[in-house]
Amino acid sequence: MTCPFCQIASHAIPAKIVYSSPDVTAFRDVKPQAPTHVLVIPNLHIGSIAAMGSSHPQLLARLFNAIDEVVRAEGLATSGFRIVSNSGPDGGQTVNHLHFHVLGGRQMLWPPG
Ligand code: AMP
Ligand code: ZN
Repeated sequence: MTCPFCQIASHAIPAKIVYSSPDVTAFRDVKPQAPTHVLVIPNLHIGSIAAMGSSHPQLLARLFNAIDEVVRAEGLATSGFRIVSNSGPDGGQTVNHLHFHVLGGRQMLWPPG
């Protein structure tokens, strides 16, 4: 098992985990780009949104429920936040295990680079 996020989900390598359930894990990004930078992943290895298709509708709901939990726990519900899922080469994805970045605690810029 070489996928780093599978290893985090199975506790084979350490991470600062902030939320976990049987289906979803959330942990702090090792290279944070904002005061809050959490990654929310399915415990199951799915490469990206493109690889997921419509095959796991309940999992998608659980991922967004976890995002909501993280947002509240980090105190971002009122101040605001950004959710990003980079997909594939043009999306800038560097880890090929579906993940949602939850970024907050500073003013986000638009458009992204
Ligand atoms: P992306 O470029 O969208 O694929 O995002 C991958 C993110 O994973 C980057 O923000 C990395 O800093 C982060 N990352 C990579 N390895 C780890 C790790 N072992 N623990 C926490 N975050 C990681
Ligand atoms: Zn994986």
